[in-house]
Amino acid sequence: MMNAEIICVGTELLLGNIVNTNAAFIAERLSRLGIGCYNQCVVGDNMDRVLAQLKESSSRSDIIILSGGLGPTEDDMTKEAVAKFCRLPLVEDAASRKSIEEYFAKRGSEPTENNWKQALLPKGATAVPNANGTAPGIILETKACKYILLPGPPVELEAMFDTQIMPYLSSLGNGVIFSRTVKLVGVGESKAETMIKDMIDAQTNPTIATYAKTGEVHIRVTASAADEKEGKKLVKPVVKELKARFGSDVYTTEEGVGLEEAILDLLKAGSMTLSTVESCTGGLIGSRIVSVPGASDVYKCGFITYSNKSKRKLVGVKKGTLDKYGAVSKQVASEMAKGGASVSKSDVCISVTGIAGPDGGTEEKPVGLVYIGCCVKGEVKVKEFRFSGNRSKIRNLSATNGLILARECILEYMSKVNFG
Ligand code: ATP
Repeated sequence: MMNAEIICVGTELLLGNIVNTNAAFIAERLSRLGIGCYNQCVVGDNMDRVLAQLKESSSRSDIIILSGGLGPTEDDMTKEAVAKFCRLPLVEDAASRKSIEEYFAKRGSEPTENNWKQALLPKGATAVPNANGTAPGIILETKACKYILLPGPPVELEAMFDTQIMPYLSSLGNGVIFSRTVKLVGVGESKAETMIKDMIDAQTNPTIATYAKTGEVHIRVTASAADEKEGKKLVKPVVKELKARFGSDVYTTEEGVGLEEAILDLLKAGSMTLSTVESCTGGLIGSRIVSVPGASDVYKCGFITYSNKSKRKLVGVKKGTLDKYGAVSKQVASEMAKGGASVSKSDVCISVTGIAGPDGGTEEKPVGLVYIGCCVKGEVKVKEFRFSGNRSKIRNLSATNGLILARECILEYMSKVNFG
């Protein structure tokens, strides 16, 4: 089996100014490909230390992936270090020079002298075009190992990796790792695990593993196979069995599909529209919905009704209800959902009102108390939650549970009117 390692270059990473998402991203992709990754490290922007690391890494790994330090400035020297280590001169790559010219022309600006530095490659290396920036990536194959150099900004690195590095690595003929994730709501991780204990105990290839996510459980089925076709074949019956066991708690088995997208698909299928009325989540649910391309077919509007007055004025919550039960109450959540649906003339409306803390809790209504409502065609359901955690965790749990409740209510409605 081929093995790889990841070297992230950047003093910012060492200082903790930025989180090393590139390492996590690359490692996850390598595991999909069945390429072993036994080491990850971070090195500052320092030629000697990068050289020392290259020496160590190349002595034990077949593939070395470096991220960062490909930019135009003086402290960017990853490429120079690799060239020096491999004793190769840097030569200009005509295609890279042209794409830098085009990049600046498109933006109506002039490249500076040091931008041309980015068109230099170690002799014999191949440039990997960068659709989102100026620094091309680099693949350099030597007798000892293969070096893959990628720019630091995650938007650039991730796109290049998926479109160009994945095919390159697959072509090295190491077989593939094929996986599918069965995503669940409405069951906790330990219950989910108990329900499939026999499958987990019997697993060999594919393997089955459960992961808890905020308010969700993901079950990952992973097969190691000669190619994608064989991988699919191995994974398919296991996914089918999981779907049979968890029934409608499975919201998707598609990679890259989140809860919000699954809900939008449901609404589209039923030709229904959605609105949101949010207090403590302050638009988080709306934002998650809008993050899905094509949300505009379904999502009509979102109200952020933070004050009592806005709850009354925007979505018609009654003053009497607020006075009698308080803003964080089942009754107010219910009127918010009903009012939001009616004002925006939408079929479904999700509402959230709660205490995200750290202040504002009382003995009777502690921090973490959240009421979530959902109105579908005039019928409202409200659930009470008592979340723990800090403000951010409570807000995120509230948003996820808002989406989960909406899914539950929409499915109930659909089964009643026989949508199939
Ligand atoms: P540029 O052409 O933009 O200068 P570069 O290849 O020189 O790219 P760096 O200068 O090392 O990359 O980093 C640029 C930015 O990319 C950093 O400020 C940071 O925001 C992000 N970045 C770099 N490395 C990582 C990493 N390992 N994980 C996440 N983000 C990173």
